[in-house]
Amino acid sequence: MRRAVCPGSFDPVTNGHLDIVQRASGLFDEVIVAVGVNVSKSRLFSAEGRLSMLEHGVVGLGNVRVEGFTGLITTYCREADAVAIVKGLRSGTDFDYELQMAQMNAHLTGVETVFMPANPQYGFVSSSLIKEVASYGGDVSGLVPDFVLGPLTEKLAQRKAE
Ligand code: ADP
Repeated sequence: MRRAVCPGSFDPVTNGHLDIVQRASGLFDEVIVAVGVNVSKSRLFSAEGRLSMLEHGVVGLGNVRVEGFTGLITTYCREADAVAIVKGLRSGTDFDYELQMAQMNAHLTGVETVFMPANPQYGFVSSSLIKEVASYGGDVSGLVPDFVLGPLTEKLAQRKAE
């Protein structure tokens, strides 16, 4: 049984994330989408909200499950008996950051990191840019799952009113 972990904060999940998860599910026996739920970070969506959007997003992928994690991803991988971390790469900037993370994680526990080139269709998509564009009324449909659009508009309006 080869199990991989796709970690992230998914605030919110995008079609770029789901593309990586779907492709990873074809390469490994089982994939866990690990949603970072550390309390210290300020997020638009709550941990519960991010987890439930992801659960919605992976319906239909039989070998994928969604879990929250806190602390080091290496510790989580060891406890979950995962052999690899899967990361999507959109650019050289992603690579520079992820290479250092991958080497640190390998140093810590020996866990492997597998890099997957982003689908060019979503190479410019990040959760932060989605939030920025949507906050000014830009159309992000097709870049995030349809079920994210309503909650995204709602959360951004709430934040503006605060
Ligand atoms: P973080 O919590 O590190 O800010 P995200 O939750 O935004 O990360 O994304 C988690 C991981 O998903 C990233 O480390 C990256 O590998 C991958 N990713 C994010 N957006 C895309 C995309 N559009 N295409 C491919 N991979 C992506």
